Amino acid sequence: RFGHEVVTMLELRDIRKAFNTGKPYELTAVDGVSLVLEARKVTVLRGPSGSGKTTLLSLAGCMARPTSGRIMLEGREITSLPERFLTEIRRTTFGFIFQQFNLVKGITALENVMLPSYPLGEQHAALKQRALDLLELFGIRQRAQSRAEWLSGGEAQRTAIARALINNPRVIIADEPTAHLDTKLSREFMDIVARFKDQQKTVIIASHDPLVYDSGVVDRVVSMRDGKIEGTEA
Ligand code: ADP
Ligand code: MG
Repeated sequence: RFGHEVVTMLELRDIRKAFNTGKPYELTAVDGVSLVLEARKVTVLRGPSGSGKTTLLSLAGCMARPTSGRIMLEGREITSLPERFLTEIRRTTFGFIFQQFNLVKGITALENVMLPSYPLGEQHAALKQRALDLLELFGIRQRAQSRAEWLSGGEAQRTAIARALINNPRVIIADEPTAHLDTKLSREFMDIVARFKDQQKTVIIASHDPLVYDSGVVDRVVSMRDGKIEGTEA
């Protein structure tokens, strides 16, 4: 059936990312990683702190460029694209959920959700409606006009998820999404990941939380250590 066809969303080929190159304290955060990420699957990058998970996510999500190696997005090489193309691809393809949720204080939940769409120059009324619909979907429509700093932990989490979805991304990247959540909210997060999957999204999560990597929603766990892939469990 069409829905079960294997499609590669992202392919990393022998990716290396070094920091402080040429300096005495040069550090290789990602060290020769090759990985194929299938479309519509949930992949978890697991590994101890400092193993290179966040760096690998930032490379996969076009937020940083590798020192060497190639990245293919839907079969297209993106590694050598000029910055403005990369920015465009990042905005239209990826939705990001960060560990601290990174909501902007001093503006409302609604404005936070709309933020990633401003550079795309969409009509304001349509964008606002879409943001409100997302808040509604996550049960926090009534908090739309609350300032970010007044939201509870759970509300902040949902606002961050709504923000990640505003540009209807094909790929959702989440970095330690449950690190600041209690068990109940962590389970809720995994339920939301299941919904992403129903919507045919590709999901990549970095986490060392068993509640995440042991979840039935996860298709594949990739274990990292010292910037390398140690093993993969399907
Ligand atoms: P993880 O997310 O698994 O904890 P990271 O990708 O954050 O791992 O970090 C991997 C290694 O790279 C760590 O040793 C970290 O200190 C280093 N590192 C990450 N980002 C930078 C940076 N911008 N500059 C220098 N070193 C960095
Ligand atoms: Mg990290």
